[in-house]
Amino acid sequence: MLINLYSSCSHTDGILTTMLNFSLPEAPSLAVLRSLAAQRILVLDGAMGTMIQALGMTEEDFTANGHIHGPGCRHQYHPDHPQKGNNDLLVLTQPQAVEDIQFQFAMAGADILETNTFSSTTIAQADYGLESAVYDLNVAGAQVARRAADRATREDGKPRFVAGAVGPTNRTASISPDVNDPGYRAVTFDDLRTAYGQQIDGLIAGGSDLILIETIFDTLNAKAAIFAAFESFAKAGRRLPLMISGTITDASGRTLSGQTPTAFWHSVAHARPFSVGLNCALGAAAMRPHMAEIASVATSLTCAYPNAGLPNAFGAYDETPDQTAAQVADFAREGIVNLVGGCCGTTPDHIRAIADAVASFPPRKVLA
Ligand SMILES: [Zn+2]
Repeated sequence: MLINLYSSCSHTDGILTTMLNFSLPEAPSLAVLRSLAAQRILVLDGAMGTMIQALGMTEEDFTANGHIHGPGCRHQYHPDHPQKGNNDLLVLTQPQAVEDIQFQFAMAGADILETNTFSSTTIAQADYGLESAVYDLNVAGAQVARRAADRATREDGKPRFVAGAVGPTNRTASISPDVNDPGYRAVTFDDLRTAYGQQIDGLIAGGSDLILIETIFDTLNAKAAIFAAFESFAKAGRRLPLMISGTITDASGRTLSGQTPTAFWHSVAHARPFSVGLNCALGAAAMRPHMAEIASVATSLTCAYPNAGLPNAFGAYDETPDQTAAQVADFAREGIVNLVGGCCGTTPDHIRAIADAVASFPPRKVLA
C-alpha cells in the first residue's frame, strides 16, 4: 500500500523531503509550548460543531442576513447555495459566537485552541459556492481563536496556543470514487497542494502558532498538506510546528487509504511533526490499541482526541464527560499520550473532565 501511495503521487518522497526546509526559525513563544509539553500532558479543545449545533442558528444567522464580510471585502454567494451548516463561515458572520465557544474550552482547561477552519479550503467550500472567501475565512478563523486564547490568558495567566485546523477535504487523492474506473481521481496531489497552501497562508497570517492537519483518512491528502505547509513556511520566513492526526474508522485498524498506524507514522515522519496521533472515529475505547501502536513507533509527541463514543441514531453523542475522561485517563496511565482532547460530541464539560483526569499522570516518554 505504501508503494501505491507514492506511485500515485507525482512527487517522490525523496523530493518531498528535500523540499522541507527545517532551517527556518520558529517563533520564540513556541519554546514555552515545548517546555510545557515536557512537563505535563497538554490539552486540546473539544467539538466546535457540537457547540454550534446547540445554538440552533438559522440561514439568516449563518449569512448575517446576507452580509458576508471578510477582513477586506464583501463576499458574494449565490442564493442557490444555502449557507446553513457551513460552520466555518461563522468566523466572518458570527465571530463573537465562535470566540465565546473557544473561550469556554480554554477556561475548561484547553492549552491549545483549534481554529474553526476544518473546511476552509476551495475544495470543501465549493459545496457552498464560497471558494473566493477561503483566505479570509482562514485569516479570520485564526484571529478569532487568538482573541479567545488571549482573553483566557488575561483571565488566569496561563499561556494558550492556536492550532490552525486543516481538514481532509471531501475528496481523496489515492482512491477512486468510481467503482468502474479505479484509476480515476476526483482530486490530484497538486490540486490539494494549491488548496491547502491558500488555507495555510491565511492561518499563518491570522496568527496561528501551530498547523494541525487532522482527521486524515487518506495519507496522500495529508502529504499534500505537509508539502503545502512547508511552502507556506518558506513564504512566511518562519516554521510552525505541525500536528498530524489520522482517523481510523475501520474494524481492521487501518485508515481509509489502507494504512496501519505504523505505516501512517512512517509516511509522515519526514515532516518531523510536533505531534502525531489519532482523532474522531469510534471513540476512545476503539482508538486505544491504535494509539498504543503509534506511541510505540513515533519519535514525535503523540496526541489523541477521540469522539464522545459512538454516535446514536440521531447522530448525537451520548458519552458523559466522566465516561470519556475515564477512557482518556487510561491512555495517560499507559503512558501513550503527550496531548489529549476531544473530537465530535465533546463539550467544555468533557474537556474539563479530561484535563482533570490526566493532570496527575506524566506525559509519554518520547522515543529517541
Ligand atoms: Zn470527530
